[in-house]
Amino acid sequence: MKWPYTEKSWEEYAQKNKVMFTSCKDCVFFQSPESCSCERLDKFEENKVDIVSIKDDESEYKIVNGRICNMFRTDNWLKALKISDKTSDELGVMARREIKIRCTFIVVCSDDKSCENLSDESELRRKTKEKISQIAKTMKSVDSSKIKPQEIILLNESWIQPYDFINYLRRECESIGVESKWRLEHFNKDVFDTKGEAEESEKTFMKNVFKSIKSGYCAIFHDGEEVDAEYLSKIDEYLNDELQAFLMIKPESGLSGLLLNSILFKQFFGSTSSSFDDFFKQLEEAVEKQKCTHLIQPLGKILSP
Ligand code: SF4
Repeated sequence: MKWPYTEKSWEEYAQKNKVMFTSCKDCVFFQSPESCSCERLDKFEENKVDIVSIKDDESEYKIVNGRICNMFRTDNWLKALKISDKTSDELGVMARREIKIRCTFIVVCSDDKSCENLSDESELRRKTKEKISQIAKTMKSVDSSKIKPQEIILLNESWIQPYDFINYLRRECESIGVESKWRLEHFNKDVFDTKGEAEESEKTFMKNVFKSIKSGYCAIFHDGEEVDAEYLSKIDEYLNDELQAFLMIKPESGLSGLLLNSILFKQFFGSTSSSFDDFFKQLEEAVEKQKCTHLIQPLGKILSP
């Protein structure tokens, strides 16, 4: 769709076809009818995104058809931050910093059935401390990443009760220097009478946890795992430099390393899906049907050097 539209004819086309787009017209990075100082137009074209030319007596600019360009900034941005005197390179760096991926990490703290009926107090305490130190190790790896997490949520399915969990973990985090914000969500399946009841409650629980996430993305790991220091920065580059769109980044198996668009997850999970497998199946069917399978990407591909 490269032929020039006029501003009016594009508006009519976009309204009629309900297309999502970004207009470069008022963007501070738009330099000439053919170029953007962030080189995003070239990158979009490289990715086969449709770039539409708008040309009339008044103006000449581009439209990024079907995509939102998150670097779009107007004069209001310059005025609000009082940065009108900056060079376009400096502005580019500032805007790029602003769009850095924001991600909440969920660390699933699994149970150990052998602790349930353990009568030996000192053995139980030893196991509890060992578990807490594993959880803190995972938190430390998230905390040491190139891009810091927005928050770490600990999904506690273990035998450790909330009071002990928080106290022990707070001390451990202080001693190893975990600085990220964290909070505990405690879920104990064993208080339910039936498996069905527990599953239903887990669904509601997960739904509520995800509802409380404010960042655009959330990632899932298990306690004891060490998160690659470049996990988030590589995903950020894929999204914001390579300009590849995705809804989910999926590990080859299991849940560790899964990264999801939070809004999508809030909408799908818990409303229609009852488990992660259900959720994956539904999402895979949806992207297949809408011919946009690229919206699910394998984690291995993004993390590979
Ligand atoms: S940053 Fe995005 S909206 Fe701005 S000119 Fe470049 S491509 Fe267009």
